[in-house]
Amino acid sequence: MNTVASRPPLTLRMNPLDNVAIVANDGGLPAGTVLPAGLPGAGLVLLDPVPQGHKLALQDLAEGDAVLRYGVPIGYARAAIPAGSWVHERLLQMPSARALEGLPMATVKPPPAEPLSGYTFEGYRNPDGSVGTRNILAVTTTVQCVAGVVAQAVARIKAELLPLYPNVDDVVGLEHSYGCGVAIDAPDAHIPIRTLRHISLNPNFGGEVLVVSLGCEKLQPARLLPPGSFPLVDEREAATGPDTVCLQDDAHVGFMSMLDGIVQRARPHLERLNARRRETVPASELVVGVQCGGSDAFSGVTANPAVGFCADLLVRAGATVMFSENTEVRDAVEQLTSRAATPEVAEGIVRELAWYDRYLDRGRVDRSANTTPGNKAGGLSNIAEKAMGSIIKSGSSAISHVLSPGEKLRRDQRGLVYAATPASDFICGTLQLAAGMNLHIFTTGRGTPYGLAECPVVKVATRTDLARRWHDLMDVNAGLIADGEMTLEDAGWSLFRLLLDVASGRRKTWAEHWRLHNALVLFNPAPVT
Ligand code: CA
Repeated sequence: MNTVASRPPLTLRMNPLDNVAIVANDGGLPAGTVLPAGLPGAGLVLLDPVPQGHKLALQDLAEGDAVLRYGVPIGYARAAIPAGSWVHERLLQMPSARALEGLPMATVKPPPAEPLSGYTFEGYRNPDGSVGTRNILAVTTTVQCVAGVVAQAVARIKAELLPLYPNVDDVVGLEHSYGCGVAIDAPDAHIPIRTLRHISLNPNFGGEVLVVSLGCEKLQPARLLPPGSFPLVDEREAATGPDTVCLQDDAHVGFMSMLDGIVQRARPHLERLNARRRETVPASELVVGVQCGGSDAFSGVTANPAVGFCADLLVRAGATVMFSENTEVRDAVEQLTSRAATPEVAEGIVRELAWYDRYLDRGRVDRSANTTPGNKAGGLSNIAEKAMGSIIKSGSSAISHVLSPGEKLRRDQRGLVYAATPASDFICGTLQLAAGMNLHIFTTGRGTPYGLAECPVVKVATRTDLARRWHDLMDVNAGLIADGEMTLEDAGWSLFRLLLDVASGRRKTWAEHWRLHNALVLFNPAPVT
C-alpha cells in the first residue's frame, strides 16, 4: 500500500516570480484536485492529471508568454495554457542559449562568509601535502590492450597480497579505452593524456605509481608520465621513468610470467601504503566533486539545494568544491560569470563554454542534446529547466578558479572551482578524479547505482519514494525536504557531517559496501585512427 499517496496535495514553487509550480505528491495529482490554502496555486482546480515532479500553470498563460521557474524563463508557451493545466514539454518552446558576449563579469560579490573552524577528518597525508580519504594502490595502464592482464593481476594481488597489508583499502586497475589507435598528436589529445596522468596522481593513491604498458602503444609510459610529473620513490625513476611492467619485454615468457611480474612489483608499493596511518587533518583538505545524474524535477528542489548548502559550508571550512557539467550550466552562464571572483575567472568560464559550444557544433547538436527520456518523464521539460536546478548544487560562494578538462588543481587553488567537463556521469567523475577529487557527491532523482572504485561516492536521492525503494543504494534522502520533514539547512549540515565520517573511513557509502563502480571513461575530443 502506498500510504504517501493519501497525503494532501502539495505543490512547490522555487521563486516568487514563478508562474508554474511542481506537484510533490507521490503518484502525482488527479484532474479535479483543488489545491488547498497556503500552497502556491491555492484554490486552483487541476484541469489535467499532473504527474509527480511535473509543472502546473499557476495563472492563465497566453501563447508566447514566458514560463518562469527559478525566476527565469525555462521556455515560452506554444499555445494558450489555462491556469491549472499540466505544463508539459510539448507546450514549451525552449529559449535560445545566452550569447557568450556581453556577459556580466564578476559583478556579484557574495558577502564574505564567516569561516567555519574546528571541523576535521581522519585522512592519509601524502608527500605533496594533499590528503587521501582512502588508501588505495592504483595500477596505471597506458593502453586498453593490457586491461585483461591487469584485471587478473589485480584479482591476484587482492587475493594473495591484500590480506598481508591490512591498512591498504583496495587495489584498482586504472583501465580505459585510450592509448593506441588514436591521433596522439592531434591538438585535443592532451586532454585524455593529462586526464590519465592526473588520475594516477589522485590523492587517494598515496603518491605510489605503478604502470603496466604493452610496449608498442602510442601512449608510451614516458609520454604519460614524463620526468618531473610523478613523485619519485627512488632515484632510478628520475632516469628510467615510473615503475613500469612492460608485457612485451623479452623477460616475459608466457602469461604467468606477466601476472607474476605485476604481482611482485606491487609488493613495495603495498608495503609503503600499508605503513601509512590516518591522522587528524582540517576539513579544508577535502576536495569534493559534485555532480548529478538521472535528474528529475526534484533535483533542483531538494538534493541539489541541500548539496549547495553543504558546498557553502565546505567553502567556509576552507575546503575545495568542484562543480562541472558544461551542458548543464550553459543556460545559467550569466549567473556563473557574475559570481566569478575576478574578471579572469569569468573569462575562464566563457572560454571553456565557448570551446564546448564549438565541440557540440561539430556534432551538429547543442546543449539541448543533454536531456534524457528519464529527465522528461521526471518533469524536466528541457535543458534550460534542468540547468537552473543543476547549478544550485554549487551553492552561493564566489567561483575562485576554473579548470579545463583533465587539469589538476594546484594546492593553492581552494574554494569553489568550476571544473569544465561534459555532463556524462562517468566522464565527469573521471575528470573530477583527475582534478584531485578525494570525495564525490552524486545527486539523483530517477536513480542510478553509480560508483567509483577510486573515491567514495555519496549518493543523494531527491525523493523519498526513490530513497525507500533504493534503501541500500542511496546514502542520503533529500526527499525529506519536499515532505516537509527536514529543513534545507538541516539536510545540508547532516550531509556535511556525513562527508567527514565517510572521508575518515568511519562510514562506508553503499556503493563501497556493494563494490559498485563504473568504468573510467576518458574524454577524448581528438580523432581515433
Ligand atoms: Ca552528470
